[in-house]
Amino acid sequence: MAMSNHIYMDNAATTALDPQVLEAMMPYLTDNYANASGTYNPASKARSAVNKARKIIADMIGAEPDEIFFTSGGTESDNIAIQGVVRALFPKEKRPEVISDDLEHPAVRETLKALAKTHLIDLKMASTDIEGFILPSAVSDSIHKHCGLISVMHANNEIGTINDIRGISEIAHEQGYTVHTDAVQSFGHIPVNVDMLGVDLLSASAHKLGGPKGVGLLYVRRGTAISPIMFGGGQEKGLRSGTYNTAGIVGFGRAAELAAERIRTDSDRIIKLRERLVSGIMGGIPHTILTGPVSGTDGQRLPGHASFAFKGVQGSSLVIGLDIKGICASTGSACSAGSNEPSHVLRALKLPADYINGSLRLSLSHNTTAEEVDKVIEAVKNEVFKLREIFGN
Ligand code: PLP
Repeated sequence: MAMSNHIYMDNAATTALDPQVLEAMMPYLTDNYANASGTYNPASKARSAVNKARKIIADMIGAEPDEIFFTSGGTESDNIAIQGVVRALFPKEKRPEVISDDLEHPAVRETLKALAKTHLIDLKMASTDIEGFILPSAVSDSIHKHCGLISVMHANNEIGTINDIRGISEIAHEQGYTVHTDAVQSFGHIPVNVDMLGVDLLSASAHKLGGPKGVGLLYVRRGTAISPIMFGGGQEKGLRSGTYNTAGIVGFGRAAELAAERIRTDSDRIIKLRERLVSGIMGGIPHTILTGPVSGTDGQRLPGHASFAFKGVQGSSLVIGLDIKGICASTGSACSAGSNEPSHVLRALKLPADYINGSLRLSLSHNTTAEEVDKVIEAVKNEVFKLREIFGN
């Protein structure tokens, strides 16, 4: 479903709730409001619906249902993964080594920074290359101990780079490290399989794939040492206490099912639209950098993801100009949107100084049309030229 009166090009921030997802959720928002942990019949129906969603998602990522833990979203999943593994390592390792990188979403970065600040972990940042890849060799170079945690994102939310998580997992496991990946941007957009990736923990979030906001999951491979980081009623085997968000979880399951289908049917079309957008902007606006992977090799960039840096332009002004024209876009992450500070990702990529403030992320979905893409190309061209003229660049 399209957003009325707007061209929505910010699907990496969040997506439209699919009407079929809403339909699946409705019974649990209206008639059956029972607590899924209850003992009566409606409660047991709600519990079955939660477990059906668990099975759908487990099958989709090649996991067992008892390895899926429902949470309130990607942020919580990242926190449980990182803090939970660190807590579990703690009796043996007083200050476990955690290896990550400068391109992570704040849900990972800020969690790690907080743990490092209180001396609970020894934090090492693996280097990144100019296209935003965290290479297995860079992770390997950062390993100094015999056990710890490695957390590297599957796909980047600002520039769409897809990392070689399998290569990283192989190196990590040889050294006795546990591996977590934040797959919030990739799950539902490209195939995600925990055995192919070789990970022990994986985070995902429903609202990035046509599901509702406020529901996510953490995959934890059987046998992975992890402790709860919050305590309560003991739901989700004590790892994530709190009353089940039945409607949200049912919606997540349905959204995952629809996304799996769309990966097969729609990815090529979305990639073609993205390429049309990229060539329209790169060909029409001089002094523009395509941020993220440039080689064009399949599988290196998320299908619906395009991001740019324009010389001599403020990305935040560009986003405002596009908004006035009815186009929803972003400078990068939601956190840096509206601020004049370059994002931590662009800083890590070491873009030239006169480009670093000029970032724009355009993220497409299966709802995006060629007509919308063409309108966006024209609007971006007009805005960039106008801003360059105003500021004499
Ligand atoms: N990780 C990544 C890579 C993201 O893009 C996001 C959301 O933008 C999150 C984590 C946080 O997910 P949520 O909004 O479900 O808390």
